[in-house]
Order: sequence, then C-alpha cells, then structure tokens
Amino acid sequence: MSACADTRTLFAHCFGGSPDGVWCAPGRVNLIGEHVDYADGLCLPMAIEQRTAVAVRRRADGVVRLRSAGFADTDVTVADVAARAVPGWAAYAAGVVWALALPDFAGADLTVTSDVPVGAGLSSSAALECAVALAVAELCGRDTGDAGRATLASACTRAENDFVGVPTGSMDQQISLRARAGHALLLDCRTGGIRHVPFDPAAHDLAVLVIDTAAPHRLVDGQYAQRRRAVEEAARQLGVASLRDVEDVSALRDPILRRRARHVVTEIGRVREAVTALDAGDVRSLGPVLDASHRSLREDFEVSSVELDSAVDAARDAGALGARMVGGGFGGSALALCEAGAVEQISRAVLTAAARRGLPRPRFRTVTPAAGARRCDRP
Ligand code: ADP
Ligand code: MG
Repeated sequence: MSACADTRTLFAHCFGGSPDGVWCAPGRVNLIGEHVDYADGLCLPMAIEQRTAVAVRRRADGVVRLRSAGFADTDVTVADVAARAVPGWAAYAAGVVWALALPDFAGADLTVTSDVPVGAGLSSSAALECAVALAVAELCGRDTGDAGRATLASACTRAENDFVGVPTGSMDQQISLRARAGHALLLDCRTGGIRHVPFDPAAHDLAVLVIDTAAPHRLVDGQYAQRRRAVEEAARQLGVASLRDVEDVSALRDPILRRRARHVVTEIGRVREAVTALDAGDVRSLGPVLDASHRSLREDFEVSSVELDSAVDAARDAGALGARMVGGGFGGSALALCEAGAVEQISRAVLTAAARRGLPRPRFRTVTPAAGARRCDRP
C-alpha cells in the first residue's frame, strides 16, 4: 500500500526514527442517494482503494506537529486545539483531536500522505479525518470495533462541521471507517443504521469509472444552502418531520419546491431499487437507476452543470450501462458503470466530448469497493 509506505518515509524525514504506528483510511464514492442525507434519506457509498495514511508517534509535552507533503508545516499545542485556533489543512487533523477530547492524548508527531485526490469528489477530507481518528483512538486504547468506529465517525463529522466549519452529513466518515471490501454500505441517515451490501463489479466484468470533470470551482456556496432550505420547507408544508416520510409530493403548490421534493423522494426510492438489484446479484440493473438519478438531479434538483452533463451523456452514448453526477453538484465528478473492456473507449468519448465543447480536460480513475480504515503496519 503505497500511501502507508510513503508516510513512514516522510515520518523518518520530518521527525527521525519510527512512528508508534501507521493507519490509513479510504476515500469514497457514493453510488446512489444524492442530496438526501439532510432529508433523513438513504445513501449507498462505497470505499475505494485510494487512501490517506498517517504515521503517528505520541509526545508527552502537549505539542502536535503536523506534516503533509505539499501543505504547510503546522505546529500547534493541545491547548490551541482546545481553543479551536488551528488554521488551514491542519484543522482537519486537529479537529479530530478536539472532537475526540481524550484526556490521555498529550500531543504527537504526525505525517500524512495520500493518493486520494484533493477536491475531486472522493472525500480526501474524510479520509484524513478518519485515519487520524483511528490512530489516536488506538493509541489511547479506545474501542475501534464497529460500535467504536460509529462513534469515531460522528466525531470526525463534528470536526468537519464545527472545527473546520464545513457543513456536511456523516456519510463520508461512516463509509471511510466502516466499509467492507467487496461491498457498498447502505446508510440510513435517519437512524444511523448500516448494512453491508455485496458489490463486486469485477466479478461481473464491470468497472466503476470516476470522471473528474476538472471544472473550475464556481461560487455556488449559496446553492447548497438553498437546496437544503427548499427540502426543509417542502417537509414543513407537507406537515412531516422530513421528506423521508413522504411518497407523494403533489400537494406542494410551488412548482420549484415540488420538483426539489420529488428529487428527494424518488432518489430514496432509487437507493432501495439499487440495493434490491445488488442483493439479487444483478449488478447490471444498477445502470438505469444511475441514469434516472442523473436526470432527477439535473431536471428536478437542478444541481448539474454543462461539464457533468457532457461527461454523463458521452459516457452513456459510448456504451456505459449508466452514469450520473456525484456529490453536491455544479462541478466535481461523475461516475459511470461500464463493461470492464469498455473503460478505454468510454474515457476517450468523454475526452472528445469535453474538447468539442471547449471544457477542461477530464481525469479518469476506476475504483473498486475497498475496506475501511485500518492499521497498516501490521500483518
Ligand atoms: P474533498 O472532496 O477531497 O474532501 P474538501 O475540500 O472537502 O475536498 O477537502 C480538501 C481539504 O482537506 C484540503 O484542502 C486539505 O485542507 C485537506 N486535505 C485533504 N487531504 C489532505 C492531505 N493529504 N494532506 C493535507 N491536507 C489534506
Ligand atoms: Mg470533503
């Protein structure tokens, strides 16, 4: 595992000697269930082989030294952490220490390496948080079984929401800590319940292709909050706690609100359809469900973009069984379910379509359903 070996090398270079241990946590892609987490919905993410690794050696003097290649060296104290006074990337690591609030944690030297691309929709932020969380929890002798991991995932989410200041649900952290290889994870955002759902595309000669559109970041911060408000307002008008409780949105008068709500309700239904197909070993049936999800995100929820539509349409025209945008929208990545032998041809078609429209050159990566966070310096 390259990130795990690299972080040892970086550790020796930065701090000298060996760490107490090395831990890694994966990035993720959400197969289906987009923009439903804040409506108490269901989602179906899978962890990927790409991981973030941390090497950690405890200190007893209250100092935390954080190093990551390509990011600014940052030294803080446990007291800074308590005061939430940590800038930049280091806030993701320090935020976890803050959220775990372990009285027996008195500082550490910590290096980070990763092959999860940053900002490509594969959740490099959660991979970093979860690797740190597992490392600190194990070093402090806390429970790292499944129940312990559920708690760690919640702490990582609090770190991202309340320490870093990014509003997200808990999906990324739950999957990064709790994934099982060869499975996707059905996550019930209402109860926090999970179920491992078998998903092994390679066994069916299929591949999951992630297409990073490389679209420039747009000023769309307000859009996420707007969609969230619309979903909450729709539930209020329908007299329910959340859209999870709704099947029929026709009582909503406002046509925009009705479409927003329809996306959420139909998307939750599509997660159920996808799980039924996977439980039956019918992986190919996922294709049309992905297509329907994209249509709903584009037309009802209106969070797609010209880059995402170009990638999805070109992938499908070139033979993908199904494709959709993933993540918050307005840029980022799409995923396509492909015959394993057709990945090249589909990638070429997506490239050609982007070039013809004068769009940025997309980047491609096939991903396989991988295991969750683990200690990686022991057999
Ligand atoms: P993503 O979709 O990849 O999670 P985010 O914007 O949520 O994108 O998180 C990316 C941020 O997480 C980076 O800007 C950086 O602050 C932090 N981060 C992620 N991976 C690393 C890493 N390997 N080293 C240092 N910081 C990282
Ligand atoms: Mg993130």
